[in-house]
Amino acid sequence: MTGSRRSNSEGEKLDPRTLAAQALGREDESTGAVVPPIHFSTTFTRRDDYGPRDHVYIRPDSPNAEHAEDVLATLEDAVGAMSFGSGMAACTAAFHALESGDHVVCGKTVYHGVKAWLERFGPARGLTFTFVPNDDLTALKSAMQPGKTKLVWIETPANPLWTVTDIAAAAEIAHAAGAQLAVDSTCATPVLTKPLTLGADLVVHAATKYLGGHSDVLAGMVAAREDTPLWRRIREHRTFAGPVLGAMEAFLLTRGMRTLFVRVERQCQSAMKVAEFLAGHPKVDRVRYPGLPGDPGHAVASKQMLGGFGGMLSFQPAGDRDSAIRLVLACRVLKPATSLGGVESLIEHRKTSEGDIVTETPDNLIRISVGIEAVDDLIQDLDRALAAV
Ligand SMILES: *Cc1c(COP(=O)(O)O)cnc(C)c1O
Repeated sequence: MTGSRRSNSEGEKLDPRTLAAQALGREDESTGAVVPPIHFSTTFTRRDDYGPRDHVYIRPDSPNAEHAEDVLATLEDAVGAMSFGSGMAACTAAFHALESGDHVVCGKTVYHGVKAWLERFGPARGLTFTFVPNDDLTALKSAMQPGKTKLVWIETPANPLWTVTDIAAAAEIAHAAGAQLAVDSTCATPVLTKPLTLGADLVVHAATKYLGGHSDVLAGMVAAREDTPLWRRIREHRTFAGPVLGAMEAFLLTRGMRTLFVRVERQCQSAMKVAEFLAGHPKVDRVRYPGLPGDPGHAVASKQMLGGFGGMLSFQPAGDRDSAIRLVLACRVLKPATSLGGVESLIEHRKTSEGDIVTETPDNLIRISVGIEAVDDLIQDLDRALAAV
């Protein structure tokens, strides 16, 4: 990136909140602008001796993508990060980097697109896979095929039941069998959990969600603990298949990450209040939020999610699928849309969004992404909607 003249990413050890707010403190060398320019140019001239500059061609070498990657790598304590054109492009990059004959162990409750890709494209690429319950370490251990299992894929807390997997324990099991551990940490964000410091090899983000934070950019990230052959293979996949992030999206993503900490801190506080309200409501049968002391994932979440339990929760109102959909539509402040991690609160009937993938999602499950609005407005909206159905 141009203008790292006063970059504060090295030397003095600064708090991640400072590094995020200043996007590593980089400024534009030629103007001193504290917000770097967007480089739309797809190509870069060579030097007078015909040697390459830092950037040659935008597919592998985008200045704006590199800035976003450096910010995330810093927040995740990673050796490096790679950006992608979507969260799914980032998730599947890890699978594309595997070889025919490799075996994958994957949590049973993960983002539905990851399951769909494995089921529909994994066999054609020679991959075999086993799904195991997210919070069952014994099942994880017995699913490992030493020498053949190359990747363990977990998501924690996991869409949309918010089951929690013990990252350190999963890493130990994966490594004992010679496999690497990838963690989809989209919903925990580096504010709450740093999977690489707990032993994971790769951390993956649908940056479309919390990292971008404003529901206006589609992006994905993978970051690695160490420079391994798998990591280099992921880069080769990205270079030659080309699922890269555009300059404008990279700029928006970097801008979003500047406010990541304040957004997530508020979202955690509000989600806890919304979860407590729903848990005490007579028309609600079950609330799933790792922050609630009675939640099955609470103990592990308390250990590996520091400072909060995230902004995502699900609940099952009394009644069937149709009354759950009526409840979603009765909300006015919470918007009836899929996706998550934005500043505005979203509410959805999850099974409708998942389509025909076989998942563990109950028919009447409603998922909420808590935004940064006044929490009393959100609770009042849910209270009114619950009374109306
Ligand atoms: C949204 C999401 C994805 C996919 O990200 P896209 O940017 O929509 O491709 C993957 N994992 C999780 C946990 C997600 O929430």
